[in-house]
Amino acid sequence: MNTLKSFVQDQWVEGREPFATLVNPSTEEPLARTSTNGIDMGAAVDHARAHGASLREMTFAQRGELLKAWSKALHEKRDELLGLAMQNGGNTRGDAKFDVDGAIATLAHYAELGAQLGSLKALRDGEAVQLGRTARYAGLHLWVPRDGVAVHINAFNFPAWGTAEKAACALLAGMPVVSKPATSTALVAFRLAEIGAGVLPRGTFQFLCGSPGELLDRLGPQDVVAFTGSSQTAARLREQLGRRGARLNVEADSLNAAVLGPDVEPGSATWDLFVADVVRDMTQKAGQKCTAIRRIFVAGDRLPAVQEALVDRLSQVRVGDTARAETTMGPVSTADQLRDVRAGIDKLASESQRVFEGKISESKGYFVPPTLLLARDAAAAKVMHKDEVFGPVATLAAASDAAGLVRRGGGGLVCSVYSDDRDFLRKCVLDVAPYHGRIYIGSEKVAGQTLGPGTVLPQLLHGGPGHAGGGEELGSLRGLQLYSQRVALQGDRALLDAIAPEKS
Ligand code: NAP
Repeated sequence: MNTLKSFVQDQWVEGREPFATLVNPSTEEPLARTSTNGIDMGAAVDHARAHGASLREMTFAQRGELLKAWSKALHEKRDELLGLAMQNGGNTRGDAKFDVDGAIATLAHYAELGAQLGSLKALRDGEAVQLGRTARYAGLHLWVPRDGVAVHINAFNFPAWGTAEKAACALLAGMPVVSKPATSTALVAFRLAEIGAGVLPRGTFQFLCGSPGELLDRLGPQDVVAFTGSSQTAARLREQLGRRGARLNVEADSLNAAVLGPDVEPGSATWDLFVADVVRDMTQKAGQKCTAIRRIFVAGDRLPAVQEALVDRLSQVRVGDTARAETTMGPVSTADQLRDVRAGIDKLASESQRVFEGKISESKGYFVPPTLLLARDAAAAKVMHKDEVFGPVATLAAASDAAGLVRRGGGGLVCSVYSDDRDFLRKCVLDVAPYHGRIYIGSEKVAGQTLGPGTVLPQLLHGGPGHAGGGEELGSLRGLQLYSQRVALQGDRALLDAIAPEKS
């Protein structure tokens, strides 16, 4: 069986026993094995730190060139990467494109930002201000790259995009990266790293294909950890890294809600957009998207029509091995996921009724049918607002106070609101805004243009408060702030301008 290696100190190295086995979740066939046992994590951190200065010395344009080269190299290997995502992630070809093309596009977006910033090496935050009697004595704020290593820990569901979106921001900001994918679906991330290692300069990118071991115990106050995964792991990392003073960004669970406004008529463009978005989010990547809609609130009196439309669309989903062209939804990614999703559906069903459950004809693999539940009483319900069931599952409910129900999720990545009534939208959007990182407004005016609330765009923030972890990634140049220290400079204006030019 193929043994995946880690890229540490600019060498590809193999870990020792025991190995974790990566499988094809459609067939349960073993694909590769990996381990990081025996890899010197301290040496990896030291190596990154030793090469940080060379990255910080580069201009934004030069760092952007690195991202451009990586993006181009990935594009050349796109078909191979799609194939790996289909094998190891249980992705349909469409799911695989979502992950791999997302990686390529996000690197390209940050490459372009680098080109725009040109010869600058650090970013100003706002305008300079006069501090003295004359304009000579002034102050300004500057974002400078942190003098440490950026450790990236990713979840199993986006091995390509997760690796690329984090690396793009860190490298453009000027921090060297140690990237660790989730072990179970690491095949795509491994290939992405192999391609990246071919174009990135020494020390700027290392890759751990498995457990991080004692890596995090080697970190200190100039280092950054960007984590995507479950709330439980996040809680452990907060404690571990809090003691060491390293900065931690958490992207965790989210009970994303979709709200249908009372004005939306069946058959209208807004209605069709809502139905398409909900079904896409439930089934794309078998519902294993952190941004997927988990709760559906119908604010008017159209609950029966919504249920009928969703059941009609869900019954057309063909679940099966993603190697077959007719399959429109694959399995969940691992045996653990299968167990957790089944248990989660049973828990949701304790306070709701199953109104749709799709069919599965496979005898092997980690398949879960698309499942729609109807809450008995969404205001009294607890599980639907608290437990993220990370599979092709959502709960539908009538909502007299939709914003109140949305807020019960305790903070989410994205909330989608579908309406063409400006008064309803203004109130609903502002009521839920403090609880979210992003709000998607679906209306007839944008119906033909949007990719839905589940697509994370590099231009906009990704993250959310509370339950969602409290982190922020992406948002174009905002994504660099995690890897930067904001410092106020005060002194002679001409000197400040020489040290920290405003323009390239
Ligand atoms: P997980 O079990 O928390 O694992 C996430 C990552 O953390 C994996 O790379 C895992 O490595 C690593 N890890 C586990 N224990 C660790 C420890 N003690 N120290 C350092 N790293 C550790 O989560 P998951 O099951 O992969 O992912 C599913 C969850 O991620 C879902 O809840 C989903 O909502 C969330 N998610 C959030 C976002 C977002 O952007 N907000 C995006 C995608 C997914 P191993 O694989 O090697 O164990």
